[in-house]
Amino acid sequence: MIASVLPTYNRAPFSFVKGEGSWLIEADGRRFLDLGAGIAVNVLGHANPALTEALTAQAGSVWHTSNLYEIPQQKALADKLVDATFADTVFFTNSGTESCELAVKMARKYWYEKGHPERTEIITFSGSFHGRSSAGIAAAGSEKMTKGFGPLLPGFVHLPFADHEAIAPAITHHTAAIMIEPVQGEGGIIPVPDQCLKGLRDLCDEHGILLILDEVQCGVGRTGKLFAHEWAGIEPDIMMVAKGIGGGFPLGAVLSTENAASGMTAGTHGSTYGGNPLGCAVGNAVMDAVNTPEFLDDVNRKAGALRQKLEGLVAAHPDMFESVRGQGLMIGIKCKATNTDIVQAGYDQQVLTVPAADNTIRLLPPLNITDEEIGEAVDRLDKAAASLAA
Ligand SMILES: *Cc1c(COP(=O)(O)O)cnc(C)c1O
Repeated sequence: MIASVLPTYNRAPFSFVKGEGSWLIEADGRRFLDLGAGIAVNVLGHANPALTEALTAQAGSVWHTSNLYEIPQQKALADKLVDATFADTVFFTNSGTESCELAVKMARKYWYEKGHPERTEIITFSGSFHGRSSAGIAAAGSEKMTKGFGPLLPGFVHLPFADHEAIAPAITHHTAAIMIEPVQGEGGIIPVPDQCLKGLRDLCDEHGILLILDEVQCGVGRTGKLFAHEWAGIEPDIMMVAKGIGGGFPLGAVLSTENAASGMTAGTHGSTYGGNPLGCAVGNAVMDAVNTPEFLDDVNRKAGALRQKLEGLVAAHPDMFESVRGQGLMIGIKCKATNTDIVQAGYDQQVLTVPAADNTIRLLPPLNITDEEIGEAVDRLDKAAASLAA
């Protein structure tokens, strides 16, 4: 008999009853060090006092009104994002998938309004992940995600990752945009080198097409900049955001330049929940905490310390691990042993990591993880590796 919860996930047998900072606590009292943070979502850890305060204060006032009316919390968060980034305008969603939907619609509408309705194609890359909607799976294009779900949304051109030579010839008079994650997340924490992001920006400028960055996983302070593309010194035309921006409250956003958003006039897009007072109250508190030089400096400092310890871990267990990669507190450890076995061995040491493609485990801890917890995390991973080897 089918489970009452649709069985699309293989779940680990934990049901956490409480969270405290970087820790998740089981009903029996066991404490797990959470290096997954709900897949890069809980940027300020669990039960963060500032977020709890923002949420409960708003909950006692007004939760939801509808985008039929002005929403001051939404305007405030949009202003913050516009001030802090390349963007001139923001649309709020509830998830990364919905951000992908709008990014695709926006790019196509841009060309339609410019008198080029034939420019509908979006170039994407192997190993990418853009969400689970019909547009998201068609954009990523992997058989694992698309098989059985056809007919797929047309208009995506899939190129091999890191094949520079393939990109320019793939741009035609049907191309609307290039869409890419600055650091592939589900693909195994694979950063796109700064030079390549610059190259993509140049290519888009040369051909007058739009650059869409998917920063759903790598954005909101994760890499040590507010958004990962800042490392490369480039700006996109459109950017997808979600995960960290709500700190655990379902919230996403599409950020855009005025030019790229020029087709999106009243009535062309909408969302019932997107940008409601409750979500945006939390989003404002996240931005206030994360977008300060001190906070981001601290992410970079801790990332350096963690990275160094992980290099030691890999060196100490050459049969288990191959290498460390990533940027900031978005770290992938390429495994020699099966990645899911290492995740499992971590469970036994009460440390939570997340598997990804390319036989990788992901470390995406809360950005306010402490130095002591970083030491504890690596100790536990060391014990996990030793126990798996034994
Ligand atoms: C998680 C993710 C998505 C999808 O976000 P959801 O909130 O799960 O819909 C899209 N793109 C990237 C890069 C992601 O990591």
